[in-house]
Amino acid sequence: MIKANDPQLKSWIEVASNCDFPIQNLPFGIFKTQSSSPRVGIAIGDQVLDLALLNKMGFLNNLKIDNSIFTNQYLNDFIALGKPTWRALRQRVSDLLNADNAELRDNKEAQQKVLQYISNVQLLMPIRVGDYTDFYSSIDHATNVGTMFRDPANALLPNWKHLPVGYHGRASSIIISGTNFHRPKGQTKPADAEQPVFGPTKLLDFELEVAFVIGKSSELGQSISTADADDAIFGLTLFNDWSARDIQTWEYVPLGPFLAKNFASTISPWIVTLDALEPFRTEGYKQEPKVLPYLEYSGDRNLDIRLEVSIQPENSEETGVCHSNYKYMYWTMEQQLAHHTVNGCNVNIGDLMASGTISGPTPNSFGSMLELSWRGTKPLKMKDGSERKFVNDNDTVIMRGYCQKDNVRVGFGEAKAKVLPAL
Ligand code: CA
Repeated sequence: MIKANDPQLKSWIEVASNCDFPIQNLPFGIFKTQSSSPRVGIAIGDQVLDLALLNKMGFLNNLKIDNSIFTNQYLNDFIALGKPTWRALRQRVSDLLNADNAELRDNKEAQQKVLQYISNVQLLMPIRVGDYTDFYSSIDHATNVGTMFRDPANALLPNWKHLPVGYHGRASSIIISGTNFHRPKGQTKPADAEQPVFGPTKLLDFELEVAFVIGKSSELGQSISTADADDAIFGLTLFNDWSARDIQTWEYVPLGPFLAKNFASTISPWIVTLDALEPFRTEGYKQEPKVLPYLEYSGDRNLDIRLEVSIQPENSEETGVCHSNYKYMYWTMEQQLAHHTVNGCNVNIGDLMASGTISGPTPNSFGSMLELSWRGTKPLKMKDGSERKFVNDNDTVIMRGYCQKDNVRVGFGEAKAKVLPAL
C-alpha cells in the first residue's frame, strides 16, 4: 500500500497535468445523474467515482460502511463517521485507482458502472450547512479596507492583531457553484442625499475566500485548542462571499454586516480533505505582538493554495482580475477555531468557517473589486475592452484554487456564478 499523498502515485485513469483532481487529491462531493438519486462521489481526473455503487459492488467491504451513508444527499453522515474512516476510505480509493492495482483497472464492466464523466452529472451542495461564520483574517485586506474607510496611519483597529475578528453569517443562502442569482436590492444612502433610497445595489462585489468544513461536533461549554483543531476539520472549499458595498456602508453601524452579505455565498462543489492538503503546509506571518496563550500554535500551519478570480462578461471571454494565495492569512484555521470555541460555543459537523477576503501584498492579489479598483477609482480593463469598477449584471465571476508541488497539483475546481439583473 502506497500512502495516498505520495507524489509518485499514478492512476490507471488518465489525469491531465493541469487537472485539479489527480490520485493525490480525491475530494468528496455529492452528485446525481438523470437516472440516479443524489450520492457521494470522489473526483478523479475528469470523472467522478460513485461510492454508493462501489460499496454496493463490494469494493469497499473492508470498511464496513452502511450504504445509506453514500446514497445520501449530503456528506454530513459520512463526516460523522470520523477521521479514521475518512482516511481509510481515501486510502482504499487511492489503492483501487493505483495504476498497479488490477481490481478495478481490469474490470471494465465495474468501471462503466462506478465512473461517470463530471460533465455528465449534476453536482449538488455537498454539505448541509448548519452555521456559517465569516472571519476577517487577511492582514492585507484588513489594512486596505482600514486605509480606504478610516485612517491609513491606523488602518488596523486595536483588536485586530489580538484576535481573529469574525461575525456570524447566514447559512441558508450558501449556494453551489453554477447557481445564478439576481442582483440584490436594499437601502443605500448616497453621499449627497439627505435620506436613504431603495433599489438594486450599485456596488456588487465578490470576496475571494476559502472556507473549512467542521468534521467533528463539540459540546456546549467545550473548547477546541489550536493543537486539536485539525482533528475537527474535514476539508476546505472555495468560497465567494458576495457583498453589496453600498448597502454595507449604510447598514453596518453599529452591529456589522447584515443584508449586504446574506443574499448569496457561492461554494465550489468538491471538499478537498485536510489530509490531501497536508503536503502544502507553509509558514505564516510572524504574529507580533505575541498572541494570548490559547491562540499560540507551533509549526507551519498556513497552506500554499494559489487562488485566482476571473470575470466573464456575457458572450465574452474571461479576464483574470486577481491572483492571491491562502498563505497570506494572518490568522490560521486552527486559531480561528480555537478562538470561536474558547467561550464554550459549540460547533457542529457541516458548519462552515470562511477565511474572510484573502488579499496579498501586491495590487493584483487583492481579493475584492473594492480593493482591486480601489473603491472605484481605478477601473479594471476587461479583454473585451469594457471596464469594471464592481461586478456588472450578466457577469460571471469564477474562482479557482490549487496547490502545486513535486509535480502534483491538488485543486478545488471552480466556484462560479452569474449575476442576473435585479428582479
Ligand atoms: Ca467575507
